Amino acid sequence: MLLEIDRITKTFGGVTALDAVTLDVVPGEIRAVIGPNGAGKSTLFGVIAGQHAPDAGNIRLDGADITALPPYARARRGIAIAFQDVRLFGEMTARENVMVGAHPRSAHGFAEAAFRLPRYWREERRISSDADELLVRVGMAGRGELPAQSLPFGQQRRVAIARALATEPRVLLLDEPAAGLSTGERSDLATLIRAIRESGVTVVLIEHDVPLVMGLADRVAVLQFGKLIADGPPALVQADPRVVEAYIGTSLVESL
Ligand code: ADP
Ligand code: MG
Repeated sequence: MLLEIDRITKTFGGVTALDAVTLDVVPGEIRAVIGPNGAGKSTLFGVIAGQHAPDAGNIRLDGADITALPPYARARRGIAIAFQDVRLFGEMTARENVMVGAHPRSAHGFAEAAFRLPRYWREERRISSDADELLVRVGMAGRGELPAQSLPFGQQRRVAIARALATEPRVLLLDEPAAGLSTGERSDLATLIRAIRESGVTVVLIEHDVPLVMGLADRVAVLQFGKLIADGPPALVQADPRVVEAYIGTSLVESL
């Protein structure tokens, strides 16, 4: 098992965002997590990537307990996250934003960087050309020089995905990557996510667009009020009365 989320509970003050949630991620799959707003999906990603310490439960990567590791140590072990709210450096170019993802694994030390020694420049050139390759991969060829804040929202999301890929992850967490995208952009995004999986990166996807998830994911977990209410192949989850019930009264009911 690549990732095991084992009875994770996370509370914020009086709110139980996650209530003894257990789920796993198999290497090479596209794994989806769906559920109404406030269900605890982003909190789950925060617990996996290390932004939130759980109140109870464990996270294991390849069988090793990583629950106590800080975010950078998890990144180094191969967990990357593209946040729901994008979080690019607006004034920096698209390329520079992607380069930020590569830096934690660069070989040069602090002194080499501070004094701009030759190895520093060689590495910067390599990181810069790697960033351009990643921009091509996410469909942003030729846009590396543009300030991130000047890009349309859909393109900013692509830069954020490229930045996450720059860490050379084994598992990529995508938090609502289709939010705010047009229908055409959504189908391009599905193609990109399939290509990422084909390249050997396991994908965990939080998504509101149920048809997108059902067409893309190998397995779907459903959260409601912090609890796991269903988990399995898309067709089974879609037919589960508890899932239909959870979506009643939300805009997603038409898509089920
Ligand atoms: P989702 O991503 O499924 O919409 P979240 O994980 O963002 O849901 O939120 C789950 C619950 O936890 C919500 O009630 C939300 O208000 C609460 N919550 C999330 N993050 C925080 C936080 N940093 N501080 C306080 N409450 C939070
Ligand atoms: Mg969320």
